[in-house]
Amino acid sequence: MNTQNGKLLSVIIPSYNEQDMIAKTFHTVKKILDGEKIPFEILFVDDGSRDLTYTNIHQLSNHNPQVKGISFSRNFGKEAAIFAGLEAAAGDCCVIMDCDLQHPPGTIVSMYRLWEQGFEVVEGVKASRGRENPLHTLCANGFYGIISRVTGIDMANASDFKLLDRRAVEALLLLPERAPFFRALSSWIGFQTATVPFEVQERTVGTSKWSLGSLIRYAIRNITSFSGAPMQFVTFMGWIMFLLSVVLGIQSLYRYFTGTAQEGFTTVILLQLFIGSVLMISLGIIGHYISRIYDELKGRPRYIISKRCGY
Ligand code: UDP
Ligand code: MG
Repeated sequence: MNTQNGKLLSVIIPSYNEQDMIAKTFHTVKKILDGEKIPFEILFVDDGSRDLTYTNIHQLSNHNPQVKGISFSRNFGKEAAIFAGLEAAAGDCCVIMDCDLQHPPGTIVSMYRLWEQGFEVVEGVKASRGRENPLHTLCANGFYGIISRVTGIDMANASDFKLLDRRAVEALLLLPERAPFFRALSSWIGFQTATVPFEVQERTVGTSKWSLGSLIRYAIRNITSFSGAPMQFVTFMGWIMFLLSVVLGIQSLYRYFTGTAQEGFTTVILLQLFIGSVLMISLGIIGHYISRIYDELKGRPRYIISKRCGY
């Protein structure tokens, strides 16, 4: 490991179809870190891109010993890319940042300085969410509202932009789950934590890699990977239905004995529909958890690496 000359910083960059950003991101980061005399390596994790992302990483690594590249055999998702980066990083501390420079590289310096003061986890916190479409903001707020409640970690302005000490990295890598939720796990592991606010920058090149559908899948996957709370919903609805049925039971019996039991078909139909849908939702939630257990049980790797460069 090349950690002899000072404290090495590994900058981990998950990249998915970011061919135009690779060189630009590298030079921007290099300029800032060289200016601050921070020794670093930069690790691009190509998450199965279908454009020239890996070719560009490879080319860059031929001319710059600081650049390393890993390429996945297909798209495994950003979380997998982050974990692959953490596993391959040699640094005394690691920073995870987006390839599109929406995480301002200048903030890395503040993070590194806090780390030098002894903080083991330095979290980038969004001072504002930047410009994104209102629907996206609404969904994000809903998602983080739920996940903050169920995890007990305030995640409203959390991001994946973080610095982790070697010890925190080792702790994260020990976690066995197949579908890790990096943002929440990096708080869950604890350690001396500091936060640094940053302004989300405009994406200058390319488009966001998230569609509404993929965001919803991401939300469901991460809520269920981190918390069993949705399953409590099943029990909760069960109790509500039970209370309702006691009330309606008493009413029906009363009607029966007073001889006015004929009407009430509407109630029957409404109840059938309601109970039916609650049961379906509940089974769906349980089914989702079973499929998660199934996935974990198969114990497949989080990602498959097809190529490496710069090693
Ligand atoms: N990314 C990835 N795999 C994916 C989707 C995204 O590695 O399946 C990377 C992407 O290249 C970028 C970062 O994750 O570096 C954030 O993605 P994006 O900018 O599309 O998300 P947004 O900023 O809109 O949340
Ligand atoms: Mg982005």
